[in-house]
Amino acid sequence: MSVLDIAKGMGVTLGHLFKRPYTVSYPEQRVDIEPRFRGRHHLLRHPDTGLEKCIGCSLCAAACPAYAIYVEAAENDPDDPVSAGERYAKIYEINMLRCIFCGFCEEACPTGAVVLGHEFELADFRYQDFVYGKEDMLVGTTGSKWQRREAAAKGKEVRIGVEPAPRPELEGVDY
Ligand code: SF4
Ligand code: SF4
Repeated sequence: MSVLDIAKGMGVTLGHLFKRPYTVSYPEQRVDIEPRFRGRHHLLRHPDTGLEKCIGCSLCAAACPAYAIYVEAAENDPDDPVSAGERYAKIYEINMLRCIFCGFCEEACPTGAVVLGHEFELADFRYQDFVYGKEDMLVGTTGSKWQRREAAAKGKEVRIGVEPAPRPELEGVDY
């Protein structure tokens, strides 16, 4: 190895000294997420009417390669509809332990109701806490089950460790 090779190697090292570090002090510091990242699902509402976009068609469940989604539909009451269709999802559950975050459910959905967001802190303790229902995913709900449990116990706001990147499908999702 020549002196020139050593100088080149040192040059690379020195070059990296002045670059922005990739590491962050998580969880105190929020993590930047790429827009294409797919994390916890959100169930969206129509922004104008507030009605749920999900019409309980189960196409997402049919497309799911991990059999992670369970949907049970019911007829809408015309005087007090839940969704904008004839039917709505009475039960909508995703088992996060089964989910491989492939995004097929999002692609299969004809109404754009289910969207994979940027939240990734889904670790928990009990099996049942990995099954997310509508109340855990409807737009307006921030954080995973344990984050909401912890925030409620401490009387604080839910704080997620991700700095969301812009993504049009997630408009209306409040992090
Ligand atoms: S992201 Fe993929 S694995 Fe997860 S619920 Fe959707 S279709 Fe199923
Ligand atoms: S999320 Fe979409 S695909 Fe799944 S049941 Fe609702 S409307 Fe159908």
